[in-house]
Amino acid sequence: MITSKTSFLGLIGNPVNHSLSPIIQNAALQYLGLDIIYITIPCKSEDLFSVVNSLKKINCKGLNITIPYKEKVFDLCTNVSPIANKLKAINTLKLNSDREWSATNTDVDGFIYPLKFLDFSKKHSIVLGSGGAARSVIEALKNLNFSKITVISRNKKSLSVLINNFGNTHSIQGVLNNDDKVNNLIEDANLIINTTPVGMKTLGNEEERLPFGKNFWQSLSPKTIVYDLIYNPRPTALLKLSEKKGCLTIDGTQMLVAQGIKSLSFWTDGLEVPFEIMHNALIKSFDQKI
Ligand code: NAP
Repeated sequence: MITSKTSFLGLIGNPVNHSLSPIIQNAALQYLGLDIIYITIPCKSEDLFSVVNSLKKINCKGLNITIPYKEKVFDLCTNVSPIANKLKAINTLKLNSDREWSATNTDVDGFIYPLKFLDFSKKHSIVLGSGGAARSVIEALKNLNFSKITVISRNKKSLSVLINNFGNTHSIQGVLNNDDKVNNLIEDANLIINTTPVGMKTLGNEEERLPFGKNFWQSLSPKTIVYDLIYNPRPTALLKLSEKKGCLTIDGTQMLVAQGIKSLSFWTDGLEVPFEIMHNALIKSFDQKI
C-alpha cells in the first residue's frame, strides 16, 4: 500500500513507456517488503539536468537511466564506478550520504549471469552488432576469459571504433558481415551473442527476422551456445533456429532481470532478491499481453 512514508525509484529516459523495469522492480520491492515503489519518469533532453538534480531533494532513492541519457548523466554524478567509466555509460544512480548521485552500470553483470558457472578459457565468442549493448557484452566476454572475441557488424565505422576501444588488451577482431570468413567463424564459435535489434519485429517471415539472413547461419554447430539479447518475442527466430540445430539457447529476459537485480542491490546496499521473483513477474506480463 502506498502511504505518506512511501519513497520511490524511477527510470529516466525517452521514451520509457514500453519499459518492463516497473514490472520486475515492483515485484522485487513487494517481495522484500520495502515501502518503495518504482515508476517511469519520461524526460525531455532539455529537462534532464533540472529533473535529475531536483530528484536529489525529494524522496527518490535511486534511478535507472536508459537511452538516450546513459552518457549525458556523467556530469550529474559525484561518484562513478570503474565499470561505468570504462563503458562510458551509466544505467543506475543512487543517493549517497551527502545526497549526491553515485553511479554505476549493471549491464555487464546482468549479461554474465546465465554464463557465470561455465569455463570459457580457450574459447571463441562472436558478438553480432557494434552498438551500445555490444560494448557491455565485450567487456563481459573479457571478464569471462574468452581467448578470442570476434565482432561481426554491417557498420564499418562503429565496428572500427569499437575494436579500437578494446584493441590490444585482448584477442579481439572486427569482421564485416559479408566477409568470406564468416561461415568458418560461425562454425568455430562456442558462444554467439546477438546484440542487433533484428528479431524484435514479429512482422515479416522467419528468415527476415534472422540477423544477417538465413545463409549467415548455415554453418552453425550444435556445440555453440546462442544468446539473443532480445526478450520479446520469446523465443526469437534466431533462438528457434538454434534450438532446431541442437544448440543451447539463452534469451534476453536473463540479462534484463539480472541487471535489474544488480541495480536493486546497489540502491539497497546489498539486498538480494531471488531471480525467479522478477523473472516470473516478467513472464506473467508477457502472457497477459497475448
Ligand atoms: P544500438 O546501439 O542501436 O546498436 C544496434 C547494432 O545493431 C548496431 O551495430 C546496428 O548497426 C546493428 N543493426 C541494426 N539493425 C540491423 C540490421 N537490420 N542488420 C544488421 N545489423 C543491424 O542498440 P543497442 O542499445 O546496442 O541494443 C541492441 C539490442 O539489444 C536491442 O534489441 C535491445 O533491446 C537489446 N538489449 C537487450 C538488453 C537486455 O537486457 N536483454 C540490454 C541491452 C540491449 P547500424 O549502426 O548500422 O544500424
